Amino acid sequence: MLEKLLMTLVIALSAALFARRTRTLVELLRLGRDAPLKPRRWGPKLTQQLVVVLGQRKLLQWSLPGVMHALIFWGFLVLLTTIVEAFGAVYQEDFALPIIGRWGPLGLLQDIFIVAVAGGIGLAFAIRKLQRPERFSGSHLEEADYILGAIGAIMLTLLLTRAAQISLDRFPYDTSWTPLSMVVAALMGGLSRGALEALEIVFTWWHSLLVLGFLVYLTYSKHLHIVTAGLNVLFTSERPKGALAPMNLDFETMSEDDRFGANKITDLTLKQLLDGMTCTECGRCQSQCPAWNTGKPLSPKLVIMDLRDELFRSGDSLLAAKAGGNGSRKVENGLEAALAELPPLNPEVVADEAIWDCTTCGACVQACPVNIEHIDVIVDMRRNLVMSESRFPREMQSALQNLETTGNPWGRPSQERLEWMKGSARQAKLEVPHISDAPDAEVLLWVGCAGAFDERNRGVVYAFARLMEIAGISFAVLGKDESCTGDPARRMGAEHIFQMLAEQNVELLKGQAPRRIVTTCPHCFNTIFNEYPQFGGHFEVTHHTEYLAELVAAGRLQPREPVADSITYHDPCYNARHNDLVQGARTVLDAIPGAIYSELHRHGHGTFCCGAGGGRMWMEERRGKRMNLERVDEALASDSDTVVVGCPYCNIMLADGVVDRRANLDLSVTDLAQILLRSVEGEK
Ligand code: SF4
Ligand code: SF4
Repeated sequence: MLEKLLMTLVIALSAALFARRTRTLVELLRLGRDAPLKPRRWGPKLTQQLVVVLGQRKLLQWSLPGVMHALIFWGFLVLLTTIVEAFGAVYQEDFALPIIGRWGPLGLLQDIFIVAVAGGIGLAFAIRKLQRPERFSGSHLEEADYILGAIGAIMLTLLLTRAAQISLDRFPYDTSWTPLSMVVAALMGGLSRGALEALEIVFTWWHSLLVLGFLVYLTYSKHLHIVTAGLNVLFTSERPKGALAPMNLDFETMSEDDRFGANKITDLTLKQLLDGMTCTECGRCQSQCPAWNTGKPLSPKLVIMDLRDELFRSGDSLLAAKAGGNGSRKVENGLEAALAELPPLNPEVVADEAIWDCTTCGACVQACPVNIEHIDVIVDMRRNLVMSESRFPREMQSALQNLETTGNPWGRPSQERLEWMKGSARQAKLEVPHISDAPDAEVLLWVGCAGAFDERNRGVVYAFARLMEIAGISFAVLGKDESCTGDPARRMGAEHIFQMLAEQNVELLKGQAPRRIVTTCPHCFNTIFNEYPQFGGHFEVTHHTEYLAELVAAGRLQPREPVADSITYHDPCYNARHNDLVQGARTVLDAIPGAIYSELHRHGHGTFCCGAGGGRMWMEERRGKRMNLERVDEALASDSDTVVVGCPYCNIMLADGVVDRRANLDLSVTDLAQILLRSVEGEK
């Protein structure tokens, strides 16, 4: 009787502590800015829960650590039944779960997962203590050790409790199903019944206290993700991967919650605060980040951890100031004072340099096993720095001004947008009509600013247009009516400039109603495809790598001539990571005869950024190794003589890198359209 009373008290105390802390955590989350959380489409959300949470898919992409985590996670799901059984046994000697509680296979599964979880813990220790991956630098490793130790102790005490129950003939399962528990029970063979009964009490209590202590402790630790991961996945943005969140800039409808980005911790959305609470500090994002990997201060993991720490640091004082809650002027003044004292996120919590180092490549978001969305929060901080503080790298100024005044970051007159049609000295001039003169054209060729103004990329657009001519496709352009899609402005944090350009382009495109837009730029593709719907622009748009693959597959383009000995392909982040476009370029390269094709070490969805995305094209890269050099070094190591690209930024960055490495004779950089044209037309 006393034992039952004591256990009831301990459970009630633990539940109260857990509930109190949970309430505090919820209040902390509610300090964030309101943003729609309710899923609009439950089908995909359910699939995400099954695949990402239950199936552990993102974790299992990392074989050894993935297996380790999956064993522990799945083990915990199965062993929830044993936890209920352990508590139940305190109240009723022969307790069994209703319906399944005496079913042999469940007993077997429990035995198996005791071993599996123990194996997972062993693997985790081996990874942390022997392998010591760099991705853990900056993580709280000691805390993880305690947690692993606690899980190990929970498994041990569970096994001992089961063994004691078997020895006392109180075990709910047929023991032929539970060989492991039987073996341990056999070790207790010589003990008297009294001793066994005492041991059962000791093991049960030890096990129960560990479980309850763990439950309370995890709400204070980074293992909070056990509770929040499912929610974080549930509340993952439903925007397409490549789209940034829109900002309300309409002063007439702006509410108190609309800010110019994030300046204080309370400017983050509830989801962004939940991201912080969910971070497991696993460092997968950090290990994939091109900025971190080239020696820059930015680590997506540390950004998220620093924001979380700031929430816990400042959150308490905010909650205390709110605590009066009676609406009195004194309380309101107290809250205002506490809000005023919050430190600015930049540079106090996250250094400005880290914010500007991001190329928005998406590697971090893709790697994160619990769907943390780093880019959103980084861009929100940029928006504040640009739109409220006017504090950004000096060299960005001219690009932003040019975008505002001339509609392109180069600041060139719009008449020059037709220059690419002239071709080079050995090429014939192309005559491409304006879309208004060819409204039935199959394709509207969206040239993009780099294609229009950068000499290297003019050749790419020319080659692509020639290929369409050869394939017999009717196509047209917008000519000098085209403007930048706004991609660099949006990613640099100048949302007002982006929205101006986006609205202008959407209006223009709607007026022309093209049948299909094709572009050689993944950034233009991404913005038109994923972001213009935010402004009512829904267009059929294709990146030229995919379009060329279609033409080759249909036999409308026939590569004949060998044009290189060995080829490799550099995937642009905005194709591969943000839009899952990896196959088109490979289909085309496969069709070109004579060249040996090999993949770069980091390729496809795991590509490595050239360093120009996120507006970095117009910023100096002063810290660490230059990303384009890192990528060129990788291409040189591949022993290919040609690296093919599918993006004007990558084209410029890699070509510059080759020059810097004085490797012009070893490696040439060319766009997919150019190499295909050479093969189709024969080397000229
Ligand atoms: S988007 Fe790319 S550069 Fe930016 S933090 Fe993530 S991994 Fe690093
Ligand atoms: S943000 Fe995601 S990937 Fe990065 S450390 Fe946290 S949980 Fe791991």
